[in-house]
Amino acid sequence: MSEQNLFEDVKKHLCSCSADLQVTPNLEAIMKMPMRELHVSIPVRMDDGSIRAFAGFRVQYNDALGPTKGGIRFHPDETIDTIRGLAAIMTWKCALHNLPLGGAKGGVICNPKKMSRGEIERLARAYIQAVCHFIGPDRDIPAPDVYTDASMMAWMMDEYSKIVQKTTFGVITGKPVSLGGSEGREDATARGGWFIIREAAKDTGIFLEGARVAIQGFGNVGANAALIGQELFSCTVVAVSDSRGGIYSRIGLDIRALLAYKEKTGSVTDFPGAENITNDELLELEVDILIPAALENVITLDNASRIKARLIAEFANGPVSSDADALLHSRGMPILPDILCNGGGVIVSYFEMVQNFNLDHWDAEEVNQRLEKKMVVAYKAVHDLSFKNNVPMRQAGYTIAVGRVVKAMKSRGWV
Ligand code: GLU
Repeated sequence: MSEQNLFEDVKKHLCSCSADLQVTPNLEAIMKMPMRELHVSIPVRMDDGSIRAFAGFRVQYNDALGPTKGGIRFHPDETIDTIRGLAAIMTWKCALHNLPLGGAKGGVICNPKKMSRGEIERLARAYIQAVCHFIGPDRDIPAPDVYTDASMMAWMMDEYSKIVQKTTFGVITGKPVSLGGSEGREDATARGGWFIIREAAKDTGIFLEGARVAIQGFGNVGANAALIGQELFSCTVVAVSDSRGGIYSRIGLDIRALLAYKEKTGSVTDFPGAENITNDELLELEVDILIPAALENVITLDNASRIKARLIAEFANGPVSSDADALLHSRGMPILPDILCNGGGVIVSYFEMVQNFNLDHWDAEEVNQRLEKKMVVAYKAVHDLSFKNNVPMRQAGYTIAVGRVVKAMKSRGWV
């Protein structure tokens, strides 16, 4: 994460649509602050017998549209301002996709890559003990995010259920399918993002078959983005990277072989037949589609002038800083904004909540069809408004999302 402040950037995006929506200064002030936040210190027994205290947060940004929703990150560089920015992004993302949910985010400052599974489990359970009175199935529903996964969601659901003395699937989403999780949740963010790329490709004249794609990040979102891009959309994935570095192949990478290789070695680097490159080099490759799918602020004023992709699809949250965003826009580069492009994760999380409330289980086909429909509807709304008002897609997306939150706040009589 760079020194760039994500929360400040998200507030700037909010301001960009205030005039269009005739948002009063008072109303804007409300939307520039999280409604509630909880800071916790979490003592955890480590494998060597010592006790370590971890700092954790949960930020509920705005709940005008419904209970708040958003992931939990376990990351060594976590900051409260990043979590605030991400919670704000969740608010606009849920609103843009017309979900009856507000936005939230949680995080713990820790490095899960240097912890054992046992230590991670104790931390996950202790986090839930610390925030259990703050969250709940009709209050605030966490999910996976950077460096957290389905098995951790299972521990967290189990811990919450023990505290309230009843199995409560609906308290968290992104659970394993065997334990109240939804089909299709694992690859929902990537799949949803590709539906947006498919629609945008038609509008920008990019032919997807054989299109050259570079993906920064090879975690849940990046790896599924590579697989879906190659297998469902016949793209040529020429480069991917993870935190240790990237790889490039002019003729395209075999993603299934790469997944097996990463499983064995822990990284994509030194993949046979490919050339090692840095994360920075990956971002500057001459490709048709660039997919940042890792952390925030990877494209800033430092490198924006060197980005050569024809289309940027934000599968990560906040990967382009606001000043880089303006520069890329002035160069005529289309950016599919995070609140539109990566909404597939929270959409299928919402489907998971609906299934949990109804003790139901939909098959993968039903989940994916419903996901596709919601992504395409949101794309069309954003695209049409962007065309009509002659503004970037991000500004159009914010205008729709903020407009819905403002309407809900007014209907509730808050303003
Ligand atoms: N962490 C995902 C996001 O940033 C999903 C959140 C959720 O499913 O609640 O959109």
